[in-house]
Amino acid sequence: MMKIYLYNSLSRSKEEFVPIQKETVGLYTCGPTVYNFAHIGNLRTYIFEDILKRVLLYNSYRVKHIMNITDVGHLTGDRDMGEDKMEKGSQREGKTAWEIAEYYTQAFKNDIAQLNILEPDIWVKATDTIDDQIALIKTLQEKDYTYQTSDGIYFDTAKFEDYTKLSHQDIDSLQEGARVEKNPEKRNLTDFALWKFSPADVRRQMEWESPWGVGFPGWHIECSAMSMKYLGDQLDIHCGGTDHIDVHHTNEIAQSEAATGKKFFNCWMHGAFLIIAGGKKMAKSEDNFLTLENALLKKKINPLVYRFAAFQTHYRKPMEYSDESVQAARNGLLHLQNQVREVAQNGAGQSGSVSEAYKLKFIEMINDDLNMPRALAVVQEMLKSDISTADKLATIMDFDRILGLSLDQVTKLEALPQEVQKLVDDRQAARAAKDWAMSDQLRDAIQDLGYTVQDTKDGMKVIKT
Ligand code: AMP
Ligand code: ZN
Repeated sequence: MMKIYLYNSLSRSKEEFVPIQKETVGLYTCGPTVYNFAHIGNLRTYIFEDILKRVLLYNSYRVKHIMNITDVGHLTGDRDMGEDKMEKGSQREGKTAWEIAEYYTQAFKNDIAQLNILEPDIWVKATDTIDDQIALIKTLQEKDYTYQTSDGIYFDTAKFEDYTKLSHQDIDSLQEGARVEKNPEKRNLTDFALWKFSPADVRRQMEWESPWGVGFPGWHIECSAMSMKYLGDQLDIHCGGTDHIDVHHTNEIAQSEAATGKKFFNCWMHGAFLIIAGGKKMAKSEDNFLTLENALLKKKINPLVYRFAAFQTHYRKPMEYSDESVQAARNGLLHLQNQVREVAQNGAGQSGSVSEAYKLKFIEMINDDLNMPRALAVVQEMLKSDISTADKLATIMDFDRILGLSLDQVTKLEALPQEVQKLVDDRQAARAAKDWAMSDQLRDAIQDLGYTVQDTKDGMKVIKT
């Protein structure tokens, strides 16, 4: 087994990854808050986490992957103020909070499937683990880490030593600036809600009985309750975007370690932001965000182009999104698909094996903190090398276990004239966008050029007629 090095936000350094158990890695990735579509910035983070998982699998680990669905308790304000995002979504769309959650959960699952992101082993909704969250809060109360205010039960961060071990923040200089809403009843600025009471004059759609009164859990407690429920003591890697470091993950560590007296996760990994021109972060709250639908599918661009685009930038560096960067990725993916198609044709009927030399180089890159830009360079080096065509085919198919670009589909298509290939690519994108009318129209156009289109369970087949 080769060593894997991962950047751990706790130590702020690349460390050799050593799982708690020998063969199985416990992985927890913070999931979506389902009050709106995921934007392509969120999806960048899920692509990074998918590569991490695939790298662990490629290195022969079993992975037990848990992802939560935040369907309650995430407030619009940074520090437990503001409205519940789900209730807000409900008002916006005139549906119940439960319908909103269901709709956007399905939309999210659809998005990640189109990006070839492997599903977690277990999906968990916050609303399905309320009892576990209440139990955890009770433990914290028994251990005297909590206090009550007029609007909820809070965690006293001053009682937890080393509260800033992940964020490395200087609390004294953390001023209550304009961005941070004030709550005069909180003992410390960084204290956070474990349980919030339903307002006396409003009946919430999502609320539960608890030992402290009717209300709903704070956002952070769900991830602690779920990860410990499903991963037990085997808490290897916890991921999310960099925005989670200062508050969400810092609070998860504080409440979990306060409750158990044990170290929570060993390794914390964070993906950098997707930014748009001018360096602005893409955010749901900005209402200026791009979804997979309007950034790619509507333009008949294969969603895997975005996956390929994400590989061009290391996950710890900000990635800039623009029409030009998508176009460049589109050309890059087309080029790779053409290379694979050519190798498949020239090597047809020959048996090849995975090149050990190139596999080693490839692993060295992916095991070096998921260095995808350099792994892609190895892919090109291999495809341009003088190893046999059949070996190239076997090797690229092996690499696709990491890339997840469905390169096996490419080889199923015959070499087609450029104009036909373009229609086929457009039709694939139309089908991904569920634009059946466009798909039919493109099928007719392909047939007009003398080719028959068959949709099989293995994908689209195009045969000269
Ligand atoms: P949310 O649905 O808002 O809870 O976010 C889902 C995931 O996307 C979290 O891991 C966030 O840290 C991450 N995220 C949010 N905005 C961006 C962005 N602009 N680029 C990359 N990741 C992001
Ligand atoms: Zn979380």
